[in-house]
Amino acid sequence: MSEAVADKAAGAVAERFTELYGAEPHGVWAAPGRVNLIGEHTDYNDGFVMPFALPHQAVAAVSRRADGVLRLHSEDVEGGVRELRLDDLSPESDKNWTAYPAGVVWALREAGHAVTGADIHLSSTVPSGAGLSSSAALEVVVALALNDLFSLDLRGWQLARLCQRAENVYVGAPVGIMDQTASACCEAGHALFLDTRDLSQRQIPFDLAAEGMRLIVVDTQVKHSHSEGEYGKRRAGCEKGAALLGVNALRDIPYADLDAALARLGDEEEVRRLVRHIVTENERVERVVSLLESGETRAIGPVLAEGHASLRDDFRISCPELDLVVDTALASGALGARMTGGGFGGSAIVLAEEPDVDALTKAIQESFAAAGFTAPRVFEAVPAAGARRLR
Ligand code: ADP
Ligand code: MG
Repeated sequence: MSEAVADKAAGAVAERFTELYGAEPHGVWAAPGRVNLIGEHTDYNDGFVMPFALPHQAVAAVSRRADGVLRLHSEDVEGGVRELRLDDLSPESDKNWTAYPAGVVWALREAGHAVTGADIHLSSTVPSGAGLSSSAALEVVVALALNDLFSLDLRGWQLARLCQRAENVYVGAPVGIMDQTASACCEAGHALFLDTRDLSQRQIPFDLAAEGMRLIVVDTQVKHSHSEGEYGKRRAGCEKGAALLGVNALRDIPYADLDAALARLGDEEEVRRLVRHIVTENERVERVVSLLESGETRAIGPVLAEGHASLRDDFRISCPELDLVVDTALASGALGARMTGGGFGGSAIVLAEEPDVDALTKAIQESFAAAGFTAPRVFEAVPAAGARRLR
């Protein structure tokens, strides 16, 4: 997002805040959604991920309060301003969207930070439920605003941890640390190579346009209803694998030891498949990093395609819509393609030479029409800035 566009967004959100709450906000902040280039389901196995921020972002106008009251409003949902008392915030008590920002306030206070209340107005361009992390954008923008307004002096990765705790404990969703860290820590023009064990990170230059390529996001607009239960099963299966292999997390199985580890799992076929995905996926992240760092950007295409096959065949979290995007893209000359995010719907990414993008997009749209699927939403993803103050 250009600075001019960001400034306009900030202005509109600030104006709306003033209408709602009768005074100008103390500030305006933004936090983006993300796509994950490679490293899927590795984040709850202490592994590697490589997301980058989208130009789509949540923007929040926020003012401090001193009276223990939290007021919340979103431009994107019906229902007006919600008013809560900080002393009443309790985990899993709220099944609405307000659980995300309220959970962040709760997590900050739980961690001993003196947050005494706030008025918050939110507006987001991150599509919700598309696997592009609208929830983390919401959490991180609120966390950053409160960090600044209450001078908490927390770093991006610390805010990400608190946001994850808000989502795990307050909202009640067992998500890993990738989304929040991506939203908090990504930089424009870069992908974030993140070790989810210790949150050490490296910004990897990722400027496809300069090299004549594009990355397209295809939002299938489907979310299969069993996705949450299946996520839990994969997590539990990975934990079982780690326990059977006597390691803290599957991250601790080096790629060179994969065959020996699989042999030790004997007839645990389901666990073997999960372990194989996680161990090979961590190796794929490392391969993509080294290809990008040595300027061999086009060579990451086949690694993305390998990653998709592993998610489809071993981890078994793809679906017909995602497979159709990937198969059509690869058959139509894409450099690489894979599903991204949790699976069972959501979005896929396609890496392509710039001149091929229009034909590829058309081929994907036609394949969806022929299959009788809902038309996908297609847009270009340019690595954008992480969370920041706009005014
Ligand atoms: P994802 O993070 O992949 O978009 P999630 O299910 O994790 O999907 O989060 C989506 C939820 O986040 C929505 O159901 C809603 O509660 C909340 N949410 C996302 N965007 C907004 C918004 N602009 N305003 C209010 N709530 C939002
Ligand atoms: Mg989410």
